[in-house]
Amino acid sequence: MKVIKTINEMKELASQVRGAGKIIAFVPTMGYFHEGHLSLMREGKKRGDLLVVSLFVNPTQFAPHEDFKSYPRDFERDRKMTEEVGVDIIFAPETREMYPSDHQTIVRVEKVTQNLCGRLRPTHFQGVTTIVMMLFEIVTPHVAIFGEKDYQQLVTVQQMARDLHMNVKVVGMPTVREADGLAMSSRNTYLLPEERKAALSLYRSLQKAKELLQKGEQKADRILHEVKGILQSEPLVRIDYAQVCDAYTLQDVDRIDGDVVIALAAYLGKTRLIDNLVFRPL
Ligand code: AMP
Repeated sequence: MKVIKTINEMKELASQVRGAGKIIAFVPTMGYFHEGHLSLMREGKKRGDLLVVSLFVNPTQFAPHEDFKSYPRDFERDRKMTEEVGVDIIFAPETREMYPSDHQTIVRVEKVTQNLCGRLRPTHFQGVTTIVMMLFEIVTPHVAIFGEKDYQQLVTVQQMARDLHMNVKVVGMPTVREADGLAMSSRNTYLLPEERKAALSLYRSLQKAKELLQKGEQKADRILHEVKGILQSEPLVRIDYAQVCDAYTLQDVDRIDGDVVIALAAYLGKTRLIDNLVFRPL
């Protein structure tokens, strides 16, 4: 496995590999890996001849009051984990090379970024799409793999790729969970033991939603009533949002008659966690 730190070196290697007719698979990450990241890498391994994983904590997707500085980082640990999965290249650029001081271009996807996380984090997704666009330009992947855990991010990147007629297939992979159901996240390391316990209510509430949907419940407000009830029964959980949305437009729906996502965000102390359930009736 090779670690590449400069944009030029990454571009040169990608162009050689493409020139040789090989498929480049790409997994963008902010590091501090867990099984969720590794599942994307394993999928990338299957889909490409060369698997590139980027490791870059992207400052522009954090608001000033958010956890950019304290975001967990451990390059050696990450390097070992990627080696075990068979990653070919780690691309770990420097912030000053990705964002030189005169950087002034942003990529913004409109409608799908405005609901859910975009409502309380209004500049988050433009930070994501700008960095993903840059990474796609540098790595030139044929296929890029993202997690459904960050469902709005996945839909946003797919929308960007379609809108800009990009030559990349954006693939989503299911959320990987701890044995007890908590969605894996690098931010879980922030949780105190009692917060970790209370955080399970996110999964429990989604399981309840799934049960209702499978029984044929079609009213979003009935589902949200149950979901919020479970979350509110945990004093350590502060709901940020709980919504039922169309799985593609991410607009709220009242009645469920197509694919939907039940999307949650909640604070456990200072830690904000998200989780979701994608329900496809057919
Ligand atoms: P991050 O390092 O948090 O930016 O995540 C990098 C990629 O891993 C994103 O596409 C995430 O959606 C994905 N990811 C994060 N957590 C999980 C999980 N528990 N299951 C599956 N994918 C995940």
